[in-house]
Amino acid sequence: MKEEIKEQLQKFFKGEVEDGEETLLKYSHDASLLQVRPKVVVFPMDGDDVKNLVKWVDENKEKYPGLSITARCAGTDMSGGAIGESIIMDFTRHMNKLIGGPLPLDDSAWYITVEPGMFYRDFEKITSAKGLIFPCYTASKSLNAMGGMYGNNSAGERTLKYGKTEDYVLSAKVVFADGSERVVKPISVNEISQNGEMSEKTFNLIKNNEAEINQAKPKVHKNSAGYFIWNVLSPSPLQGEGRGEVFDLNKLLVGSQGTLGIATEITFKIIPQNKYSKLVAIFMNDLEPLGRLVDEILELNPETIEAYDDKTMKLAVKFFPDFLKNKGLIGMLKLMWSFIPEFKMMLTSGFPKLILLVEFSGKSEEEVHGECIKLEKRIVHFGLKTHITKDQTEANKYWDIRRESFALLRKHVKGMRTAPFIDDIIVRPEFLPKFLPELNNILSKYKLTYTLAGHAGDGNFHIIPLMDFSRTDTAKIILELSDQVYDLVAKYHGSITAEHNDGIIRTPYLPKMYEPHIIEIFKEIKNIFDPKNIFNPGKKIPTENFGGTKKYIAEHIAVEHNAHHRV
Ligand SMILES: Cc1cc2nc3c(=O)[nH]c(=O)nc-3n(C[C@H](O)[C@H](O)[C@H](O)COP(=O)(O)OP(=O)(O)OC[C@H]3O[C@@H](n4cnc5c(N)ncnc54)[C@H](O)[C@@H]3O)c2cc1C
Repeated sequence: MKEEIKEQLQKFFKGEVEDGEETLLKYSHDASLLQVRPKVVVFPMDGDDVKNLVKWVDENKEKYPGLSITARCAGTDMSGGAIGESIIMDFTRHMNKLIGGPLPLDDSAWYITVEPGMFYRDFEKITSAKGLIFPCYTASKSLNAMGGMYGNNSAGERTLKYGKTEDYVLSAKVVFADGSERVVKPISVNEISQNGEMSEKTFNLIKNNEAEINQAKPKVHKNSAGYFIWNVLSPSPLQGEGRGEVFDLNKLLVGSQGTLGIATEITFKIIPQNKYSKLVAIFMNDLEPLGRLVDEILELNPETIEAYDDKTMKLAVKFFPDFLKNKGLIGMLKLMWSFIPEFKMMLTSGFPKLILLVEFSGKSEEEVHGECIKLEKRIVHFGLKTHITKDQTEANKYWDIRRESFALLRKHVKGMRTAPFIDDIIVRPEFLPKFLPELNNILSKYKLTYTLAGHAGDGNFHIIPLMDFSRTDTAKIILELSDQVYDLVAKYHGSITAEHNDGIIRTPYLPKMYEPHIIEIFKEIKNIFDPKNIFNPGKKIPTENFGGTKKYIAEHIAVEHNAHHRV
Protein backbone atom coordinates (compact mmCIF):
# COMPACT_ATOMS: atom_id res chain seq x y z
CA MET A 1 0.00 0.00 0.00
CA LYS A 2 2.87 2.36 0.89
CA GLU A 3 4.46 2.03 -2.55
CA GLU A 4 1.09 2.44 -4.21
CA ILE A 5 0.41 5.69 -2.32
CA LYS A 6 3.83 7.09 -3.11
CA GLU A 7 3.44 6.28 -6.80
CA GLN A 8 0.04 7.92 -6.96
CA LEU A 9 1.19 11.06 -5.14
CA GLN A 10 4.13 11.45 -7.48
CA LYS A 11 1.74 11.69 -10.42
CA PHE A 12 0.47 15.12 -9.33
CA PHE A 13 2.64 16.38 -6.48
CA LYS A 14 5.34 18.87 -7.56
CA GLY A 15 7.42 18.70 -4.37
CA GLU A 16 9.37 15.68 -3.12
CA VAL A 17 7.64 12.53 -1.86
CA GLU A 18 10.04 10.60 0.37
CA ASP A 19 9.85 7.30 2.22
CA GLY A 20 13.48 6.37 2.86
CA GLU A 21 14.30 4.83 6.23
CA GLU A 22 16.22 7.86 7.46
CA THR A 23 13.37 10.22 6.53
CA LEU A 24 10.73 8.07 8.18
CA LEU A 25 12.81 7.77 11.34
CA LYS A 26 13.44 11.50 11.49
CA TYR A 27 9.74 12.31 11.05
CA SER A 28 8.68 9.69 13.61
CA HIS A 29 9.59 12.24 16.29
CA ASP A 30 8.91 15.77 17.31
CA ALA A 31 10.03 17.23 20.66
CA SER A 32 7.52 15.07 22.53
CA LEU A 33 8.29 11.81 24.29
CA LEU A 34 6.39 9.92 21.61
CA GLN A 35 7.22 8.10 18.43
CA VAL A 36 4.80 7.51 15.55
CA ARG A 37 6.08 6.23 12.23
CA PRO A 38 4.60 7.85 9.12
CA LYS A 39 4.15 6.12 5.74
CA VAL A 40 5.48 8.94 3.64
CA VAL A 41 6.79 12.51 4.00
CA VAL A 42 5.98 15.17 1.42
CA PHE A 43 7.44 18.64 0.86
CA PRO A 44 4.90 20.89 -0.91
CA MET A 45 6.16 23.50 -3.37
CA ASP A 46 3.09 25.76 -3.11
CA GLY A 47 -0.57 26.06 -2.20
CA ASP A 48 -1.58 24.01 -5.25
CA ASP A 49 0.41 21.06 -3.95
CA VAL A 50 -1.38 21.32 -0.61
CA LYS A 51 -4.82 21.60 -2.26
CA ASN A 52 -4.18 18.69 -4.62
CA LEU A 53 -2.89 16.45 -1.87
CA VAL A 54 -5.85 17.16 0.42
CA LYS A 55 -8.25 16.56 -2.48
CA TRP A 56 -6.56 13.26 -3.31
CA VAL A 57 -6.70 12.10 0.32
CA ASP A 58 -10.35 13.12 0.55
CA GLU A 59 -11.18 11.15 -2.61
CA ASN A 60 -9.14 8.09 -1.62
CA LYS A 61 -10.01 7.84 2.07
CA GLU A 62 -12.52 5.09 1.43
CA LYS A 63 -10.04 3.03 -0.55
CA TYR A 64 -7.24 3.53 2.02
CA PRO A 65 -8.98 4.16 5.39
CA GLY A 66 -5.69 4.85 7.17
CA LEU A 67 -4.96 7.91 5.00
CA SER A 68 -4.45 11.23 6.77
CA ILE A 69 -2.27 14.36 6.65
CA THR A 70 -0.26 15.82 9.49
CA ALA A 71 0.97 19.34 8.73
CA ARG A 72 4.42 19.97 10.05
CA CYS A 73 6.83 22.86 10.30
CA ALA A 74 9.96 22.62 12.47
CA GLY A 75 8.70 19.67 14.53
CA THR A 76 9.40 21.27 17.94
CA ASP A 77 5.93 20.38 19.17
CA MET A 78 6.19 18.89 22.66
CA SER A 79 2.78 17.20 22.62
CA GLY A 80 3.14 14.86 19.64
CA GLY A 81 1.09 17.23 17.48
CA ALA A 82 3.56 17.10 14.60
CA ILE A 83 3.70 13.30 14.21
CA GLY A 84 1.24 10.95 12.56
CA GLU A 85 0.81 7.52 11.01
CA SER A 86 0.13 8.45 7.41
CA ILE A 87 1.35 11.45 5.35
CA ILE A 88 3.51 14.13 6.98
CA MET A 89 3.59 17.41 5.07
CA ASP A 90 6.69 19.47 5.91
CA PHE A 91 6.48 23.16 4.99
CA THR A 92 9.99 24.22 5.94
CA ARG A 93 11.79 23.00 2.79
CA HIS A 94 9.98 25.07 0.14
CA MET A 95 7.02 26.97 1.57
CA ASN A 96 9.14 29.27 3.71
CA LYS A 97 9.01 32.57 1.84
CA LEU A 98 8.04 36.15 2.51
CA ILE A 99 4.90 36.99 0.52
CA GLY A 100 4.64 40.68 1.40
CA GLY A 101 5.41 43.40 3.95
CA PRO A 102 6.13 44.56 6.52
CA LEU A 103 3.71 47.40 5.73
CA PRO A 104 1.91 49.82 8.04
CA LEU A 105 -1.51 48.62 9.23
CA ASP A 106 -2.49 51.60 11.36
CA ASP A 107 -0.86 54.08 13.76
CA SER A 108 0.35 51.41 16.13
CA ALA A 109 0.93 48.26 14.08
CA TRP A 110 2.26 46.77 10.84
CA TYR A 111 1.49 43.59 8.94
CA ILE A 112 3.49 40.93 7.15
CA THR A 113 2.47 37.88 5.10
CA VAL A 114 4.56 34.71 5.04
CA GLU A 115 4.38 31.07 4.12
CA PRO A 116 4.02 28.73 7.12
CA GLY A 117 7.43 27.11 6.74
CA MET A 118 9.37 30.33 7.42
CA PHE A 119 11.47 29.85 10.55
CA TYR A 120 10.89 32.42 13.29
CA ARG A 121 14.60 33.27 13.24
CA ASP A 122 14.30 34.36 9.57
CA PHE A 123 11.03 36.16 10.24
CA GLU A 124 12.68 38.04 13.11
CA LYS A 125 15.49 39.24 10.86
CA ILE A 126 12.93 40.85 8.54
CA THR A 127 10.87 42.45 11.33
CA SER A 128 13.75 43.66 13.49
CA ALA A 129 15.38 45.35 10.47
CA LYS A 130 12.36 47.70 10.67
CA GLY A 131 12.36 47.92 14.47
CA LEU A 132 9.29 45.66 14.65
CA ILE A 133 8.53 42.53 16.65
CA PHE A 134 6.07 39.63 16.84
CA PRO A 135 5.81 39.81 20.62
CA CYS A 136 4.48 36.34 21.42
CA TYR A 137 7.69 34.63 20.30
CA THR A 138 8.50 31.33 22.05
CA ALA A 139 11.46 30.16 24.10
CA SER A 140 12.10 27.89 21.10
CA LYS A 141 12.27 30.89 18.73
CA SER A 142 15.61 29.85 17.28
CA LEU A 143 14.08 26.50 16.22
CA ASN A 144 10.40 26.82 15.42
CA ALA A 145 8.55 28.13 12.36
CA MET A 146 5.55 30.43 11.87
CA GLY A 147 3.08 27.72 10.76
CA GLY A 148 3.79 25.80 13.96
CA MET A 149 3.00 28.91 15.98
CA TYR A 150 -0.29 29.18 14.09
CA GLY A 151 -0.98 25.46 14.64
CA ASN A 152 -0.28 25.62 18.36
CA ASN A 153 -1.34 29.18 19.21
CA SER A 154 2.11 29.66 20.66
CA ALA A 155 3.09 32.10 23.34
CA GLY A 156 6.12 33.22 25.28
CA GLU A 157 7.69 35.44 27.87
CA ARG A 158 5.98 38.62 26.60
CA THR A 159 2.52 37.07 26.31
CA LEU A 160 1.67 38.42 29.74
CA LYS A 161 1.51 41.92 28.26
CA TYR A 162 1.02 41.28 24.55
CA GLY A 163 -1.10 38.11 24.19
CA LYS A 164 -0.74 34.91 22.16
CA THR A 165 -0.41 34.12 18.45
CA GLU A 166 -4.23 34.25 18.00
CA ASP A 167 -4.06 37.96 18.84
CA TYR A 168 -1.67 38.58 15.94
CA VAL A 169 -3.22 36.59 13.07
CA LEU A 170 -5.01 39.04 10.79
CA SER A 171 -5.87 36.56 8.04
CA ALA A 172 -4.74 33.25 6.60
CA LYS A 173 -5.14 31.19 3.46
CA VAL A 174 -6.38 27.80 4.61
CA VAL A 175 -6.90 24.55 2.73
CA PHE A 176 -10.00 22.77 4.03
CA ALA A 177 -10.86 19.06 3.99
CA ASP A 178 -12.47 19.13 0.51
CA GLY A 179 -9.28 20.59 -0.99
CA SER A 180 -10.60 24.12 -1.34
CA GLU A 181 -8.35 27.00 -0.38
CA ARG A 182 -10.01 30.05 1.21
CA VAL A 183 -8.97 33.27 2.82
CA VAL A 184 -10.02 33.25 6.47
CA LYS A 185 -10.42 36.67 8.06
CA PRO A 186 -12.81 38.45 10.41
CA ILE A 187 -16.24 39.09 8.87
CA SER A 188 -19.43 40.66 10.10
CA VAL A 189 -22.09 38.20 11.31
CA ASN A 190 -24.30 39.47 8.48
CA GLU A 191 -21.88 37.97 5.96
CA ILE A 192 -21.83 34.47 7.47
CA SER A 193 -24.50 33.06 5.18
CA GLN A 194 -22.37 33.97 2.14
CA ASN A 195 -19.28 32.48 3.70
CA GLY A 196 -20.08 28.80 3.22
CA GLU A 197 -21.58 25.96 5.21
CA MET A 198 -18.67 25.59 7.63
CA SER A 199 -19.04 29.15 8.85
CA GLU A 200 -22.79 28.89 9.16
CA LYS A 201 -22.69 25.60 11.06
CA THR A 202 -19.95 26.84 13.40
CA PHE A 203 -21.86 30.04 14.08
CA ASN A 204 -25.06 28.11 14.87
CA LEU A 205 -23.23 25.63 17.08
CA ILE A 206 -21.67 28.40 19.11
CA LYS A 207 -24.82 30.52 19.28
CA ASN A 208 -27.01 27.56 20.29
CA ASN A 209 -24.67 26.66 23.14
CA GLU A 210 -23.54 30.11 24.15
CA ALA A 211 -24.36 29.87 27.86
CA GLU A 212 -22.61 26.50 28.39
CA ILE A 213 -19.63 27.60 26.31
CA ASN A 214 -19.17 30.78 28.35
CA GLN A 215 -19.47 28.83 31.56
CA ALA A 216 -16.86 26.29 30.45
CA LYS A 217 -14.20 28.90 29.66
CA PRO A 218 -11.10 28.13 31.74
CA LYS A 219 -10.43 31.04 34.08
CA VAL A 220 -6.78 31.47 33.23
CA HIS A 221 -4.85 33.95 31.13
CA LYS A 222 -3.78 31.37 28.50
CA ASN A 223 -5.37 28.13 27.37
CA SER A 224 -4.59 25.81 24.45
CA ALA A 225 -6.66 22.82 25.60
CA GLY A 226 -9.47 21.72 23.29
CA TYR A 227 -10.85 23.86 20.50
CA PHE A 228 -10.82 27.56 21.24
CA ILE A 229 -14.50 28.28 20.80
CA TRP A 230 -14.60 31.40 22.94
CA ASN A 231 -13.39 34.19 20.69
CA VAL A 232 -14.88 33.15 17.34
CA LEU A 233 -17.62 35.67 18.00
CA SER A 234 -16.66 39.02 19.45
CA PRO A 235 -18.24 42.46 19.71
CA SER A 236 -17.42 44.60 16.70
CA PRO A 237 -14.93 47.35 17.49
CA LEU A 238 -16.30 49.37 14.59
CA GLN A 239 -19.96 49.35 15.45
CA GLY A 240 -19.67 49.49 19.25
CA GLU A 241 -20.71 46.92 21.78
CA GLY A 242 -24.13 45.38 21.33
CA ARG A 243 -24.46 46.74 17.81
CA GLY A 244 -22.95 43.86 15.93
CA GLU A 245 -20.55 40.99 16.18
CA VAL A 246 -17.43 39.91 14.35
CA PHE A 247 -17.03 36.27 13.31
CA ASP A 248 -13.44 35.13 12.96
CA LEU A 249 -12.71 31.48 12.15
CA ASN A 250 -9.00 32.05 12.69
CA LYS A 251 -9.72 32.20 16.42
CA LEU A 252 -10.70 28.54 16.12
CA LEU A 253 -8.14 27.46 13.53
CA VAL A 254 -5.17 28.99 15.35
CA GLY A 255 -4.23 26.40 17.97
CA SER A 256 -6.21 23.58 16.35
CA GLN A 257 -2.98 21.69 15.50
CA GLY A 258 -3.85 21.26 11.84
CA THR A 259 -6.93 19.16 12.72
CA LEU A 260 -9.43 21.47 10.98
CA GLY A 261 -7.50 22.90 8.06
CA ILE A 262 -3.99 23.63 6.84
CA ALA A 263 -2.62 27.17 6.54
CA THR A 264 -0.68 27.96 3.36
CA GLU A 265 -0.15 31.70 3.94
CA ILE A 266 -0.49 33.73 7.13
CA THR A 267 -0.73 37.49 7.63
CA PHE A 268 0.52 38.51 11.05
CA LYS A 269 0.24 41.77 12.89
CA ILE A 270 3.57 43.03 14.23
CA ILE A 271 4.31 45.98 16.49
CA PRO A 272 7.15 48.43 17.12
CA GLN A 273 9.83 47.08 19.39
CA ASN A 274 10.61 49.00 22.56
CA LYS A 275 14.28 49.99 22.46
CA TYR A 276 15.14 49.81 26.15
CA SER A 277 14.51 47.16 28.75
CA LYS A 278 15.69 46.38 32.25
CA LEU A 279 15.38 43.34 34.43
CA VAL A 280 14.87 42.97 38.17
CA ALA A 281 15.59 39.61 39.82
CA ILE A 282 13.60 38.81 42.96
CA PHE A 283 14.79 35.99 45.20
CA MET A 284 12.19 34.02 47.15
CA ASN A 285 12.99 31.51 49.91
CA ASP A 286 9.35 30.90 50.67
CA LEU A 287 6.58 30.53 48.08
CA GLU A 288 3.83 31.63 50.43
CA PRO A 289 3.64 35.28 49.28
CA LEU A 290 3.97 34.41 45.56
CA GLY A 291 0.35 35.07 44.55
CA ARG A 292 0.14 38.44 46.33
CA LEU A 293 3.60 39.39 45.08
CA VAL A 294 2.70 38.67 41.45
CA ASP A 295 -0.54 40.67 41.83
CA GLU A 296 1.34 43.70 43.09
CA ILE A 297 3.99 43.44 40.38
CA LEU A 298 1.28 43.18 37.71
CA GLU A 299 -0.07 46.56 38.72
CA LEU A 300 3.16 48.10 37.43
CA ASN A 301 2.50 46.61 33.98
CA PRO A 302 5.84 44.84 33.36
CA GLU A 303 6.61 43.21 30.02
CA THR A 304 7.37 39.85 31.62
CA ILE A 305 7.29 38.01 34.94
CA GLU A 306 9.21 34.79 34.48
CA ALA A 307 10.50 32.31 37.06
CA TYR A 308 12.81 29.38 37.63
CA ASP A 309 13.48 27.25 40.67
CA ASP A 310 16.49 26.21 42.75
CA LYS A 311 16.91 22.98 40.76
CA THR A 312 17.28 24.96 37.55
CA MET A 313 19.88 27.13 39.30
CA LYS A 314 21.82 24.07 40.46
CA LEU A 315 21.91 22.73 36.91
CA ALA A 316 23.03 26.10 35.56
CA VAL A 317 25.93 26.29 38.02
CA LYS A 318 26.84 22.64 37.46
CA PHE A 319 26.90 23.01 33.70
CA PHE A 320 28.18 26.57 33.75
CA PRO A 321 30.74 25.99 30.92
CA ASP A 322 27.80 25.44 28.55
CA PHE A 323 26.78 29.05 28.98
CA LEU A 324 30.20 30.26 27.95
CA LYS A 325 29.95 28.73 24.49
CA ASN A 326 29.73 31.18 21.58
CA LYS A 327 30.22 34.17 23.87
CA GLY A 328 33.76 35.24 22.75
CA LEU A 329 36.57 36.00 25.21
CA ILE A 330 35.22 39.31 26.57
CA GLY A 331 31.70 37.91 26.74
CA MET A 332 33.01 34.86 28.60
CA LEU A 333 34.85 36.97 31.17
CA LYS A 334 31.85 39.22 31.68
CA LEU A 335 29.55 36.25 32.15
CA MET A 336 31.94 34.52 34.57
CA TRP A 337 32.06 37.69 36.62
CA SER A 338 28.29 37.98 36.63
CA PHE A 339 27.91 34.38 37.90
CA ILE A 340 29.92 35.10 41.09
CA PRO A 341 26.80 35.77 43.23
CA GLU A 342 25.40 32.37 42.19
CA PHE A 343 28.65 30.58 43.11
CA LYS A 344 28.63 32.39 46.46
CA MET A 345 25.04 31.36 47.11
CA MET A 346 25.90 27.77 46.35
CA LEU A 347 28.75 27.79 48.88
CA THR A 348 26.95 29.70 51.62
CA SER A 349 23.21 30.12 52.04
CA GLY A 350 22.06 27.81 49.23
CA PHE A 351 19.83 28.85 46.36
CA PRO A 352 16.51 30.60 46.82
CA LYS A 353 13.49 28.40 46.12
CA LEU A 354 12.32 30.56 43.24
CA ILE A 355 13.80 33.43 41.26
CA LEU A 356 11.37 35.83 39.61
CA LEU A 357 12.51 37.84 36.62
CA VAL A 358 10.55 41.03 36.06
CA GLU A 359 11.36 43.05 32.96
CA PHE A 360 10.22 46.54 32.02
CA SER A 361 10.59 48.08 28.60
CA GLY A 362 10.30 51.63 27.38
CA LYS A 363 11.63 54.44 25.26
CA SER A 364 14.66 55.44 27.38
CA GLU A 365 17.14 54.04 29.87
CA GLU A 366 15.84 56.48 32.53
CA GLU A 367 12.26 55.35 32.03
CA VAL A 368 12.99 51.64 32.49
CA HIS A 369 15.35 52.22 35.39
CA GLY A 370 12.68 54.34 37.04
CA GLU A 371 10.20 51.46 36.68
CA CYS A 372 12.64 49.07 38.36
CA ILE A 373 13.10 51.44 41.32
CA LYS A 374 9.32 51.79 41.56
CA LEU A 375 9.03 48.02 41.71
CA GLU A 376 11.62 47.69 44.48
CA LYS A 377 9.78 50.31 46.55
CA ARG A 378 6.40 48.79 45.85
CA ILE A 379 7.33 45.31 47.09
CA VAL A 380 9.65 46.34 49.94
CA HIS A 381 7.10 45.16 52.54
CA PHE A 382 7.61 41.54 51.38
CA GLY A 383 11.18 41.75 52.75
CA LEU A 384 12.67 39.97 49.73
CA LYS A 385 16.13 40.36 48.28
CA THR A 386 15.98 42.07 44.87
CA HIS A 387 18.58 42.99 42.30
CA ILE A 388 18.34 45.44 39.38
CA THR A 389 20.60 44.18 36.61
CA LYS A 390 23.34 46.56 35.60
CA ASP A 391 23.40 45.90 31.89
CA GLN A 392 22.19 43.58 29.14
CA THR A 393 25.01 41.05 29.72
CA GLU A 394 23.88 40.55 33.27
CA ALA A 395 20.23 40.38 32.26
CA ASN A 396 21.19 37.80 29.63
CA LYS A 397 22.62 35.56 32.34
CA TYR A 398 19.20 35.29 33.95
CA TRP A 399 17.47 34.90 30.59
CA ASP A 400 19.93 32.19 29.54
CA ILE A 401 19.21 30.19 32.67
CA ARG A 402 15.46 30.59 32.20
CA ARG A 403 15.42 29.80 28.46
CA GLU A 404 17.95 26.99 28.66
CA SER A 405 16.42 25.15 31.61
CA PHE A 406 14.93 22.46 29.38
CA ALA A 407 18.04 22.10 27.22
CA LEU A 408 20.25 21.83 30.31
CA LEU A 409 18.26 18.89 31.58
CA ARG A 410 18.25 17.19 28.20
CA LYS A 411 21.94 17.33 27.57
CA HIS A 412 23.47 16.06 30.70
CA VAL A 413 21.92 13.17 32.48
CA LYS A 414 23.18 9.81 31.34
CA GLY A 415 20.64 7.07 30.73
CA MET A 416 17.77 9.49 31.35
CA ARG A 417 15.68 11.55 28.98
CA THR A 418 13.47 14.55 29.43
CA ALA A 419 9.82 13.57 29.48
CA PRO A 420 7.45 16.40 28.58
CA PHE A 421 3.94 15.35 29.63
CA ILE A 422 2.99 17.71 32.47
CA ASP A 423 5.06 20.39 30.77
CA ASP A 424 2.58 23.22 30.43
CA ILE A 425 0.14 23.52 33.32
CA ILE A 426 -1.42 26.81 34.31
CA VAL A 427 -3.39 27.96 37.34
CA ARG A 428 -4.13 31.53 38.38
CA PRO A 429 -1.14 33.03 40.24
CA GLU A 430 -3.23 33.51 43.40
CA PHE A 431 -3.43 29.69 43.71
CA LEU A 432 0.30 29.05 43.23
CA PRO A 433 1.31 29.11 46.92
CA LYS A 434 -1.10 26.23 47.61
CA PHE A 435 -0.82 24.57 44.22
CA LEU A 436 2.98 24.29 44.00
CA PRO A 437 3.54 22.44 47.33
CA GLU A 438 0.68 20.04 46.49
CA LEU A 439 2.26 19.46 43.10
CA ASN A 440 5.58 18.84 44.74
CA ASN A 441 3.98 16.24 47.05
CA ILE A 442 2.67 14.33 44.03
CA LEU A 443 5.97 14.44 42.17
CA SER A 444 8.09 13.53 45.18
CA LYS A 445 6.27 10.20 45.52
CA TYR A 446 7.84 9.19 42.21
CA LYS A 447 11.37 10.35 43.09
CA LEU A 448 11.80 12.13 39.77
CA THR A 449 14.38 14.75 38.94
CA TYR A 450 12.69 17.76 37.45
CA THR A 451 13.02 21.48 37.06
CA LEU A 452 10.33 24.07 37.36
CA ALA A 453 10.46 27.16 35.19
CA GLY A 454 7.88 29.26 33.49
CA HIS A 455 5.72 32.30 33.20
CA ALA A 456 4.94 33.18 36.82
CA GLY A 457 3.00 36.28 35.77
CA ASP A 458 0.14 34.15 34.52
CA GLY A 459 0.82 31.04 36.64
CA ASN A 460 2.05 28.90 33.73
CA PHE A 461 4.80 26.45 34.72
CA HIS A 462 6.83 24.07 32.61
CA ILE A 463 7.70 20.94 34.55
CA ILE A 464 9.89 18.52 32.67
CA PRO A 465 10.93 15.41 34.61
CA LEU A 466 13.86 13.22 33.66
CA MET A 467 12.96 9.59 33.17
CA ASP A 468 14.67 6.32 32.43
CA PHE A 469 12.90 5.08 29.30
CA SER A 470 14.39 1.61 29.57
CA ARG A 471 12.24 0.97 32.66
CA THR A 472 9.16 -1.10 31.92
CA ASP A 473 6.93 1.05 34.13
CA THR A 474 7.66 4.35 32.36
CA ALA A 475 4.32 4.42 30.53
CA LYS A 476 2.47 3.57 33.73
CA ILE A 477 4.17 6.41 35.63
CA ILE A 478 3.46 8.89 32.84
CA LEU A 479 -0.22 8.03 32.73
CA GLU A 480 -0.61 7.90 36.52
CA LEU A 481 1.19 11.17 37.08
CA SER A 482 -0.74 12.93 34.31
CA ASP A 483 -3.96 11.81 35.99
CA GLN A 484 -2.93 13.11 39.40
CA VAL A 485 -1.40 16.36 38.22
CA TYR A 486 -4.31 17.19 35.93
CA ASP A 487 -6.77 16.44 38.76
CA LEU A 488 -4.87 18.99 40.81
CA VAL A 489 -4.96 21.50 37.94
CA ALA A 490 -8.72 20.96 37.63
CA LYS A 491 -9.15 21.45 41.38
CA TYR A 492 -7.60 24.90 41.00
CA HIS A 493 -9.65 25.70 37.85
CA GLY A 494 -6.56 25.78 35.63
CA SER A 495 -5.71 24.38 32.22
CA ILE A 496 -3.66 21.27 31.38
CA THR A 497 -1.97 23.24 28.61
CA ALA A 498 -1.46 26.98 28.41
CA GLU A 499 0.56 27.08 25.18
CA HIS A 500 2.11 23.71 24.19
CA ASN A 501 -1.27 22.29 23.15
CA ASP A 502 -2.94 18.86 23.45
CA GLY A 503 -1.35 16.68 20.78
CA ILE A 504 -1.31 12.98 21.54
CA ILE A 505 -0.05 13.35 25.08
CA ARG A 506 -2.91 15.47 26.49
CA THR A 507 -5.94 14.79 24.29
CA PRO A 508 -7.21 11.89 26.49
CA TYR A 509 -7.18 14.22 29.51
CA LEU A 510 -9.46 16.89 28.04
CA PRO A 511 -12.49 15.48 29.94
CA LYS A 512 -10.74 16.51 33.16
CA MET A 513 -11.20 20.10 32.05
CA TYR A 514 -14.42 20.04 30.12
CA GLU A 515 -17.87 18.56 30.75
CA PRO A 516 -19.11 15.91 28.27
CA HIS A 517 -21.32 18.49 26.60
CA ILE A 518 -18.31 20.65 25.68
CA ILE A 519 -16.38 17.61 24.44
CA GLU A 520 -19.41 16.89 22.21
CA ILE A 521 -19.14 20.45 20.86
CA PHE A 522 -15.46 19.81 20.04
CA LYS A 523 -16.52 16.64 18.18
CA GLU A 524 -19.14 18.55 16.24
CA ILE A 525 -16.56 21.17 15.28
CA LYS A 526 -14.28 18.41 14.01
CA ASN A 527 -17.21 16.96 12.07
CA ILE A 528 -18.09 20.29 10.50
CA PHE A 529 -14.55 20.87 9.25
CA ASP A 530 -13.20 17.38 8.73
CA PRO A 531 -15.97 14.77 8.57
CA LYS A 532 -13.66 12.03 7.26
CA ASN A 533 -11.01 12.67 9.96
CA ILE A 534 -8.21 13.21 7.45
CA PHE A 535 -6.45 16.07 9.27
CA ASN A 536 -4.03 15.04 12.02
CA PRO A 537 -6.19 12.34 13.66
CA GLY A 538 -5.75 11.44 17.32
CA LYS A 539 -5.41 15.03 18.46
CA LYS A 540 -8.02 17.22 20.12
CA ILE A 541 -10.86 14.66 20.25
CA PRO A 542 -10.58 12.30 23.23
CA THR A 543 -12.33 9.16 22.00
CA GLU A 544 -11.45 5.76 20.62
CA ASN A 545 -12.97 6.55 17.21
CA PHE A 546 -10.68 9.50 16.70
CA GLY A 547 -7.56 7.90 18.20
CA GLY A 548 -7.06 10.16 21.23
CA THR A 549 -6.63 7.58 24.01
CA LYS A 550 -4.28 6.74 26.89
CA LYS A 551 -3.69 3.35 25.30
CA TYR A 552 -2.31 5.11 22.22
CA ILE A 553 0.09 7.11 24.41
CA ALA A 554 1.32 3.95 26.16
CA GLU A 555 1.88 2.23 22.81
CA HIS A 556 3.84 5.12 21.31
CA ILE A 557 6.30 6.16 23.97
CA ALA A 558 9.59 6.60 22.15
CA VAL A 559 12.12 3.90 22.86
CA GLU A 560 14.77 5.02 20.43
CA HIS A 561 17.55 7.27 21.61
CA ASN A 562 17.05 9.91 18.98
CA ALA A 563 13.66 10.85 20.35
CA HIS A 564 14.54 14.50 19.95
CA HIS A 565 16.11 13.91 16.59
CA ARG A 566 15.07 17.12 14.93
CA VAL A 567 15.18 19.57 17.77
C1 LIG B 1 12.98 23.80 23.97
C2 LIG B 1 11.56 24.12 23.59
C3 LIG B 1 10.99 25.28 24.11
C4 LIG B 1 9.68 25.62 23.77
N1 LIG B 1 9.15 26.79 24.24
C5 LIG B 1 7.90 27.15 23.89
C6 LIG B 1 7.35 28.40 24.35
O1 LIG B 1 8.01 29.19 25.00
N2 LIG B 1 6.08 28.69 23.99
C7 LIG B 1 5.34 27.87 23.21
O2 LIG B 1 4.19 28.20 22.92
N3 LIG B 1 5.84 26.70 22.75
C8 LIG B 1 7.10 26.32 23.07
N4 LIG B 1 7.61 25.13 22.60
C9 LIG B 1 6.77 24.27 21.72
C10 LIG B 1 6.96 24.57 20.22
O3 LIG B 1 8.26 25.03 19.98
C11 LIG B 1 5.97 25.60 19.69
O4 LIG B 1 4.66 25.10 19.77
C12 LIG B 1 6.26 26.01 18.22
O5 LIG B 1 5.54 27.17 17.88
C13 LIG B 1 5.99 24.91 17.23
O6 LIG B 1 6.51 25.33 15.99
P1 LIG B 1 7.07 24.29 14.91
O7 LIG B 1 7.43 25.07 13.73
O8 LIG B 1 8.13 23.46 15.49
O9 LIG B 1 5.75 23.46 14.62
P2 LIG B 1 5.50 21.89 14.51
O10 LIG B 1 6.01 21.21 15.75
O11 LIG B 1 5.99 21.38 13.24
O12 LIG B 1 3.91 21.87 14.50
C14 LIG B 1 3.15 22.32 15.59
C15 LIG B 1 1.67 22.05 15.35
O13 LIG B 1 1.20 22.92 14.32
C16 LIG B 1 0.60 22.17 13.28
N5 LIG B 1 0.93 22.82 12.01
C17 LIG B 1 2.14 22.90 11.42
N6 LIG B 1 2.05 23.55 10.25
C18 LIG B 1 0.76 23.90 10.10
C19 LIG B 1 0.05 24.56 9.08
N7 LIG B 1 0.64 25.00 7.98
N8 LIG B 1 -1.29 24.72 9.23
C20 LIG B 1 -1.93 24.27 10.34
N9 LIG B 1 -1.31 23.62 11.34
C21 LIG B 1 0.04 23.44 11.22
C22 LIG B 1 1.21 20.78 13.39
O14 LIG B 1 0.35 19.79 12.84
C23 LIG B 1 1.38 20.63 14.88
O15 LIG B 1 0.19 20.16 15.44
C24 LIG B 1 8.91 24.76 22.94
C25 LIG B 1 9.51 23.60 22.43
C26 LIG B 1 10.80 23.27 22.74
C27 LIG B 1 11.39 22.03 22.17
